Amino acid sequence: MNRIQNYAFANKKALLRVDYNVPLNEQFEITDTTRIDASLPTLRKILDDGGSVIIMSHLGRPKGKDASCSLKHILPYLRKLTGVEVLFAEDCIGAETEAMVARLQPKQILLLENVRFYKEETDGDAAFAQKLASYGDVYVNDAFATAHREHATTAVIARFFPNDKMFGLLMQAEVDNLNKVMNNPKRPFTAILGGSKISTKINIINNLLTKVDNIILGGGMNYTVHKAMGGNVGKSLVENEMLDVAREVLETAKKNNVKVYVSEDTVTSDRFGNDALRRIYPTDEIPDDMEGMDIGPKTCLNYRQAILDSATVLWNGPMGVFEFDNFSNGTFMVADAVARATEQGSFTLAGGGDSVAAINKFKLSEKFSYISTAGGAMLEFCEGRSLPGITSITDEK
Ligand code: AMP
Repeated sequence: MNRIQNYAFANKKALLRVDYNVPLNEQFEITDTTRIDASLPTLRKILDDGGSVIIMSHLGRPKGKDASCSLKHILPYLRKLTGVEVLFAEDCIGAETEAMVARLQPKQILLLENVRFYKEETDGDAAFAQKLASYGDVYVNDAFATAHREHATTAVIARFFPNDKMFGLLMQAEVDNLNKVMNNPKRPFTAILGGSKISTKINIINNLLTKVDNIILGGGMNYTVHKAMGGNVGKSLVENEMLDVAREVLETAKKNNVKVYVSEDTVTSDRFGNDALRRIYPTDEIPDDMEGMDIGPKTCLNYRQAILDSATVLWNGPMGVFEFDNFSNGTFMVADAVARATEQGSFTLAGGGDSVAAINKFKLSEKFSYISTAGGAMLEFCEGRSLPGITSITDEK
């Protein structure tokens, strides 16, 4: 398999799939440039080699040609970031675009309009993929956040480049780091899972039960597990239809020798709001009129120790309603413990929109071994599923 570091791009046209699905405000200004910034090392490598880049991306979920989802909005920032000439093709395919591709010079970038303006993109249409493939000499996929989709430009297109396809530097780092955690972890290996609902995390929990030594649970899903064990969790978030599943998780964990940590105590409130009344209770004795909002202080200490004792840590999902400052302590304590574990030499990886938002809020992002930029794709990877964006490059099934 090609590694981008070893590939010479001089005088080649590289067809690069990125994920520039960035948030825009009402004036169509970018409010968070992280995803564009993350593509810079790959752009630099190709341009510095003396190649040119044809960028393909989606933005939003347009139905047809929707000007509010135009990639034109990111053009000024891309020019500023790269400092090279960036041309824009108002349609991702067609005669005019072909002419622009033909005229493209080394060290120039051609940004194509949103590929999702064509439904052939999400349909994974082979003819559409082939048309785009004809524009480049080499295909580079740097869009890890869409790697779980079998779309025309994220997976199907790779088949037209049997010998000249590779991951971009961002995607390669994602795949390498996730592989390290999921397939070759140093032990003890601890997974920390939080967030609102157990139903959205059950596949990852089941896969992790075959791989980890410890699972630490926080967030809303914690209460479903406590209720399944017979506890009173008041009006905390509970998925009653998942109680049997939660019991099965505990049984499998026991069989597999995986220790499951659930919260011993909980910070509760009388309503869902930052300035609500706060009281701490044992998690299985929450009064009927109170709801669990965050893990409690004893739990924080317990979780901290388990994290510090781990050689590998995977974290997805907040420990409580961290968006409210009064209920963000548990998430902060866990983030801080993971940061300490990193300092002590453990390999630590976090991912998922809310965990990353929390880590950024606490200004701890530099203190993790790796932070994944992707939510859905990372979860599916950790569920043990094969991702079309990866297998189309590696030729594995
Ligand atoms: P997820 O998208 O499943 O990872 O869930 C993230 C969301 O879970 C965040 O918006 C948190 O506010 C929310 N959350 C965490 N703990 C709780 C809780 N105890 N009750 C309700 N929501 C929670």
